[in-house]
Amino acid sequence: MPEPREDCLFCKLVAGGDHVRDAEGFVAIADINPQAPVHLLVLPERHVDTFRDVAEFPPEEAQRMLAFVADTAAAPGLTDYRVVVNVGPEAGQTVFHLHWHILGGRPMGETL
Ligand code: AMP
Ligand code: ZN
Repeated sequence: MPEPREDCLFCKLVAGGDHVRDAEGFVAIADINPQAPVHLLVLPERHVDTFRDVAEFPPEEAQRMLAFVADTAAAPGLTDYRVVVNVGPEAGQTVFHLHWHILGGRPMGETL
């Protein structure tokens, strides 16, 4: 596993944050500014800046990351929810460590 980046907020939260779930290589935290009754973030321990770099994950790790996203949504009882990854500033990305938003607990509407 590459070294955590000292200047990266999410590397710090992976190492020492308040985790609602964790598994080998991944943690889930509550978003500090929730946009829905349930708003969790899945953070991989492996630092890549954006989803563009997801191919840096070994295939087995990428597969486990997706399963961890699904399990993290299921844990609080969500069946219907939205998974969002913002890629780049123009898409709304503000923290440059890959993360998956899980949003649910209210009707999410038809629009993205
Ligand atoms: P994005 O805009 O897609 O990069 O998402 C970054 C998310 O991180 C936002 O939804 C923020 O509310 C959230 N966030 C920022 N700082 C923290 C923090 N210290 N703990 C939990 N969530 C955070
Ligand atoms: Zn990082």
